[in-house]
Amino acid sequence: MEIADFSGKPFPCPVCNMGLRLKISRKQKPYCMCLECGIQIFFRGQEGIKRLHKMIRSEEAVATEFNGPARAVFLYNRLQGLRRQRGHLTDKQGMHFLDSDLRKVVKALDAEIERVLAELEREVKDDAEKQK
Ligand SMILES: [Zn+2]
Repeated sequence: MEIADFSGKPFPCPVCNMGLRLKISRKQKPYCMCLECGIQIFFRGQEGIKRLHKMIRSEEAVATEFNGPARAVFLYNRLQGLRRQRGHLTDKQGMHFLDSDLRKVVKALDAEIERVLAELEREVKDDAEKQK
């Protein structure tokens, strides 16, 4: 597995259990962060990275079986979590007053919300077609 393969893979926040997305650090190690909890997790050890890889692979195996209504509920929950995060960031001040870094974060959240919405729509449509 290439280090780039970790990018975008889901990893649950150990505190709030929200599905985070793995990113690649400048040192070419996977990491992720939960904006809501304000934590960052870096995977630095070779063993840790191997275990993470194993975990992702087994979760992907589960994910392919995990579809239909259960998948729709999962996507819905993820959507709620994203909207909550976005709300926390933009609550105190409007988007207009955010500094440029935070604005980038809000934009990234918006993009993810769009992505999950599209996926949810596909999921619901697939399901409707199966029932025909
Ligand atoms: Zn969290």
